[in-house]
Amino acid sequence: MWQVVGHKWAVDLLNRALASGRVGHAYLLTGPPQIGKKSLALNFAQALNCLDEERPCGQCLACRKIAHGSHPDVQLIEGEGGSLKIDQMRTLQHEAALSPLEGRWKVYIIRQMEQATAEAANCLLKTLEEPPAHVILLLTASQADALLPTIVSRCQVLNLRPLANETVQRALQERWGVDAERARFLARLSGGRLGWAVAASQNDTILARREKHLDEMMELLSQGQVERLGYAQQLSRNPEAAPELLHLWLSWWRDLLLAASDSSAGIINIDREDALRAQAQRYSLGQVRDFVEALRAAAWRLEHNANTRLTLEVLTLSLPTTNW
Ligand SMILES: [Zn+2]
Repeated sequence: MWQVVGHKWAVDLLNRALASGRVGHAYLLTGPPQIGKKSLALNFAQALNCLDEERPCGQCLACRKIAHGSHPDVQLIEGEGGSLKIDQMRTLQHEAALSPLEGRWKVYIIRQMEQATAEAANCLLKTLEEPPAHVILLLTASQADALLPTIVSRCQVLNLRPLANETVQRALQERWGVDAERARFLARLSGGRLGWAVAASQNDTILARREKHLDEMMELLSQGQVERLGYAQQLSRNPEAAPELLHLWLSWWRDLLLAASDSSAGIINIDREDALRAQAQRYSLGQVRDFVEALRAAAWRLEHNANTRLTLEVLTLSLPTTNW
């Protein structure tokens, strides 16, 4: 049984590859943060190395070892200090050449490939160009276009989309025991990102940080250049938190577009609907659209290893000022 919530088409596709014995050597899973890319990759690694007939069974020694991160043939490779380094790829290259110790396949899950340095990406490319027969590479990234085209072209790309709110809500209730009302609220705030919703249900600081970041953004709107640059500088001390902050801001400004059109169906920040409606009166549609574009551009630059401080400075300066 696959333990993946949603993303059924992707599970079906991988299952068909397993059943036909035609598994690709490299897959690239793309999608927003905390949408389920790593879970899908780990489940696929279990399916590849499971000892049972019904793969993945989730119960056998191989499945359990993979779930606990202790299977010698399944490696999870993550950035160190915000970047994937060439040493990590060199180690992969050397180890990949050896035969599996316990499983059928050696599986390498490389997270947030957009964080790879140019040297690291080029080193991985060598393994991708001539992968040993027993090796499967599972890359994850926010978007395919944040990576070298030569890497993307050697992977089968699976673009995961946000789940329906109802799917997130049901999973929170049934699998994580969250009560219905809280599950509905968190599902809405998650924007279809189950990983975020689960984390927020288990850790109150995530919601508290969201509150703080939204309050700070409101304050920033009425502040001048000096305060904005100061805030950008303060944020850039923690570059790993920047993508989530941008995601939150983007959800807010998209919500403003919905609030301006009098629709509340798709609004994510539903607990602040009154503030959204009040703010929607204060800005022109053009201003809101321009800032949504500025946010997208900033997110794109960060994914392409731009300087965090500079990107956030440009962004905070382009926050629209109120019209009164
Ligand atoms: Zn198993």
